[in-house]
Amino acid sequence: MTKKKKKKDVKKVEVKETKKLSKRTKICILIGCILVVLLIGFLIYYKVTSKFRYESFVKKIETNYGDKYEIKAPDVCYGNKIKCHNIKPKIKGKVDINKLGDNKIEFEYKYKKNKLVLKQTVKVKDLKEPEIVLNDEEVLVCPNGKILKLNLSVNDNLDGDITDKIQTTLNEKELVIEAEDGAGNKAQRKIEVEPKDDAKPIITINGKTTMSVIKGIEYNDQGANVTDNCDDNIQITTTGSVDVNTVGTYKITYSATDTAGNSNSATRTVSVKEREVGNKVVYLTFDDGPGAYTQKLLDILDKYNVKVTFFVTNQFPKYQNMIGEEARRGHTVAVHTLTHRWNVYESVDAYLADFEAMNDIIEQQTGSRTKLFRFPGGSSNRIYCGHNKTSVPDIINAMNEKGNVYFDWNLSSGDAGGTVSTDQVVKNVTSKMKNNSVVLQHDIKGFSVNAVEKIIQYGLNNGFTFKALDENSPTAHHGVYICK
Ligand SMILES: [Zn+2]
Repeated sequence: MTKKKKKKDVKKVEVKETKKLSKRTKICILIGCILVVLLIGFLIYYKVTSKFRYESFVKKIETNYGDKYEIKAPDVCYGNKIKCHNIKPKIKGKVDINKLGDNKIEFEYKYKKNKLVLKQTVKVKDLKEPEIVLNDEEVLVCPNGKILKLNLSVNDNLDGDITDKIQTTLNEKELVIEAEDGAGNKAQRKIEVEPKDDAKPIITINGKTTMSVIKGIEYNDQGANVTDNCDDNIQITTTGSVDVNTVGTYKITYSATDTAGNSNSATRTVSVKEREVGNKVVYLTFDDGPGAYTQKLLDILDKYNVKVTFFVTNQFPKYQNMIGEEARRGHTVAVHTLTHRWNVYESVDAYLADFEAMNDIIEQQTGSRTKLFRFPGGSSNRIYCGHNKTSVPDIINAMNEKGNVYFDWNLSSGDAGGTVSTDQVVKNVTSKMKNNSVVLQHDIKGFSVNAVEKIIQYGLNNGFTFKALDENSPTAHHGVYICK
């Protein structure tokens, strides 16, 4: 009985021990399970949190034209905070630094099956301001800011030499030079200066500084011009005057003062002299009138007491009375033609009839007939050939027999041809005027009549005497054209 009990107790202990073991196993399994769950969780976390990672990425970059540019790929890795694999990108696109504008760059990152593309725009711009280089230290500036001397050059990377585009401003003793290139980049340079103006204005007398005029002839002063280193608009003051009716020496003074107070003056000496009776003679002659401008011409001639010759026509009968006026004022009246039609050259008789008819009118107006005449078109005209090939030589013979004298001219004013301006008529006549000039003008042309005053003034100032033609005057024959 005791033995049995003992056996029973042993069994009980074993069971107890077995029961204890299985509890431990259970704990182990539990821990194992937790670990597995954690591992799976970690793996899931690892997988889920893995991605491309990079700090900052600038989508748009600006770079200066012409400057070296290196494409810089952003640092990108794939992974998570625990582990991240660095990846080298594939770069697509390039940057042309010599061309203004946008350049597109792509950075392509690959990790296993994952891909990331980062797009970047690199804008090539002119970001550089022009460069102002002072070539000479000496800079001269007027008090008003006008630059007298400034030797510099302004160069721009893109626009090249833009020296002529500088702007300057003077702030007391500081000269500010500014330049801006086409892209709007501005450069500025400041220079210390001593603004000053110690130069006098420069006065230039128009025309001659010493001149003489004939007593009684109108004097028009041509004035003077003034220029100044610093000031643009300086007034000129003129003092003195010329009394053309009193012989003597007159001084006309031109003076000017600039803003800095520098003054200057210049003087013209004008001598008024008695009219000398020159030994050079000029014969002014006027054809085709009288007409609308004859009265005006007569008044100009009276003003200078100059006598001329009128070769008259009856083209404008309402001015017939002017023929008498011409004679009364001491001028020579001679025949040009009654009609000024070319059919006067059809025969000697036709010519003589025209001549006598005009002479009749002259006689009515002046009380006497004339022996002086001028051929329409001049004695050298070729028009007569189309009417009668011997008329002009025959007319000359017939007229000579009657004691008539014809006059041509040796100085044409050009007023019948290409010349249509008063100034040109003056120039044509005065440039060729010499002793015994027989000048041809037309008093039916206003612009030509307007030239007479200046022609007379020129002549009187240059020792010429104006005379009217008479039977003994130079005839200035052209020579007859022989028809073929
Ligand atoms: Zn004529």
